Amino acid sequence: MRYFGTISLIIFLTMMVHSCSSDDTTTPSDPNIENNRPLGTSASDILSSDDFNSLTIELVYTNSFRPEASSILGFKNFIQGLVNKPGGVQFIERVIADQGGAPFSIEEIRSIEDANRSVYTEGDNLAVYVFFSNGASESDTNNSVTLGTAYRNTSIVIYQKTLEFITQTEPEVLPILEQTTLNHEMGHLMGLVNIQNDDIHQVHEDPDSNKHCVHEDCLMYYDATGVGRQMLSKWTQLRAVPQLEIQCLQDLQAKGAL
Ligand SMILES: [Zn+2]
Ligand SMILES: [Zn+2]
Repeated sequence: MRYFGTISLIIFLTMMVHSCSSDDTTTPSDPNIENNRPLGTSASDILSSDDFNSLTIELVYTNSFRPEASSILGFKNFIQGLVNKPGGVQFIERVIADQGGAPFSIEEIRSIEDANRSVYTEGDNLAVYVFFSNGASESDTNNSVTLGTAYRNTSIVIYQKTLEFITQTEPEVLPILEQTTLNHEMGHLMGLVNIQNDDIHQVHEDPDSNKHCVHEDCLMYYDATGVGRQMLSKWTQLRAVPQLEIQCLQDLQAKGAL
């Protein structure tokens, strides 16, 4: 089943496992060093109560491309169902001006974060930042787009403009696809799948898709040859967002998840 007219899209839900060289130059004097580490290194800190008693999620967007309220609600439920934070999870929404220079490279997405992020990890409160981008990814082509990328230990970009564009003929798909993207990228921050090579279930890492899950029904599944069409048709028919299957869930629980 096609959802987007004659365009067959390959959709990327990506992560940046290897930090670029600029990330390696952080010094102990960097005030934001706790939030400038490689992807997956804060998985236990996000999930468990061992070192951080509370979690703050900062959602940053522009007035041009605001996330759907139902997507944010689903994202909140997803996080609150997983993280063990006796001090609670706080969500802060902030509107910033449209960012110029789109389409954006991941280096530009990092610069936007550096200029606009307002909540950083401090004391026993861990901070996560999500930017809903008013521009597309620079790596998009006519037949492949990136919907989201987890690119630092506590940083996610959601390509909101792209999400709205590819769902314009089926707007009811938008909240499902948006929430799936949010939850999927958050799964990468939580270390899935085996991003730091420390998952207890290493067998479910997809040998054909770096740091994704081999189970087709799992939130962390990714088939580079056509997940967009498969995932969209399947989950939009079900009107549901994919869940974490048992091995991914147990990997999180081994790191302190509820
Ligand atoms: Zn992914
Ligand atoms: Zn899985």
